[in-house]
Amino acid sequence: MITEDQVGEIQPQQFQLGEAFAYQLDQQDPLKALRSEFYIPSTAEGKEEYYFCGNSLGLQPKRTQDYINEVLTNWSQRGVKGHFQGDYPWLPYHEYLTEQMASLVGAKPCEVVMMNSLTVNLHLMMVTFFKPTAQRYKIVLEDHAFPSDHYAVTSQLDYHGISATEGVQLLTPKPGEELLDEVDILNLIESEGDSIALMLLPGVQYYTGQVLDLKAITEHAHRKGIIVGVDLAHAAGNIELQLHDWNVDFACWCSYKYLNSGPGSIAGCFIHERHVTNTQLKRFAGWWGHDKASRFAMMSQFQAIPTAEGWQLSNPPILSLAAIRASLDTFALAGGIKPLRKKSIKLTGYLVFLLSQLADAISIITPKHPVRRGCQLSLKCCVPHLTGKQLFEQLDLQAVTTDWREPNVIRVAPVPLYNSYYDVYQFVQILKSIVLKGTINHG
Ligand SMILES: *Cc1c(COP(=O)(O)O)cnc(C)c1O
Repeated sequence: MITEDQVGEIQPQQFQLGEAFAYQLDQQDPLKALRSEFYIPSTAEGKEEYYFCGNSLGLQPKRTQDYINEVLTNWSQRGVKGHFQGDYPWLPYHEYLTEQMASLVGAKPCEVVMMNSLTVNLHLMMVTFFKPTAQRYKIVLEDHAFPSDHYAVTSQLDYHGISATEGVQLLTPKPGEELLDEVDILNLIESEGDSIALMLLPGVQYYTGQVLDLKAITEHAHRKGIIVGVDLAHAAGNIELQLHDWNVDFACWCSYKYLNSGPGSIAGCFIHERHVTNTQLKRFAGWWGHDKASRFAMMSQFQAIPTAEGWQLSNPPILSLAAIRASLDTFALAGGIKPLRKKSIKLTGYLVFLLSQLADAISIITPKHPVRRGCQLSLKCCVPHLTGKQLFEQLDLQAVTTDWREPNVIRVAPVPLYNSYYDVYQFVQILKSIVLKGTINHG
């Protein structure tokens, strides 16, 4: 985790307004060279965009094409023998990713595997870890969870004959508030814990950008015998995670957001060490999860690999794995997640500082404390006669790519791998001009 000390090093008072200061911050940035590792999208006129949408689709590392081409070449030259030959044979290809991916999420290599997609992995994990009984049958989910998580949870409950009304225990902010209060979550665990089988929590909440104290919540939940799963869609590659030490039971994440592995690229799955060695755990099985030594003996009796790999079903799409490998090597150039997170806190802190000039027009719903957020800020437009949606569209016309989330939020994610301080400066300049115009036009 980022300590309070590190946060203290980069307090907002050290920021200044003005373009020259943005350039200065970029000059002093030890990670500034990484931007050139990425393709930055441009407008029809050939102008580079200010891209703040890495929370939705991360940009393409330039090396990705080479890594994918390596697979294509191996295939064209060797056909089926590519499984066993070439610089990166396909049979163990997923293993090339494990160590780096595990380090990004704070896990041991035996706890991590890349497979399927995020929602599929959520289902597979619930097949293993959601074991409702007459007394303990509820799943805790935040009210504002991503729709796919709602659908996965309610369909799992339905599969066990439990209605959503009975089985879903929603976490909601206090009336009139946007953020979850951790004390409410701990209280819920105290009061309802005996009926809760599973909690599915966000690593970074996709709408507000809130980061929960997963360590404390997991500890409380475990004391009550509750399984804790985490959806890390917006956390992996964004914040520092210690999944192993926090004792989380399982976690799932996609690789196309902060992990820059391309649209629909395959997902990650974490299963804690204390579970993976239990090969008797019930699961939906496939041949790729079967003991490697005897996989090709083609026996009909399933024998699970005693690591997270034991949950794999099929041989994975190597082209997608190649893109993930390229992305992980880009993270390695940065020195891993720690230096990136350090820059991220400063970059987002700078954005908060610049936005404070527009406090009457733009409110930030994301938590104020850097430890309680990732790089994303969620903004609400409070200008009369200018809706949030209109503001979002105006930004887009001026080459600023953000994203719009119903009902009322513009999400802005300065990504430390490829966004510059100058990007952030320009974003606020453009935002300011739109907001001022909106105000002047309507008096
Ligand atoms: C992006 C996202 C998903 C997407 O699920 P896929 O299965 O990858 O399509 C799910 N949950 C959350 C919280 C997300 O942010």
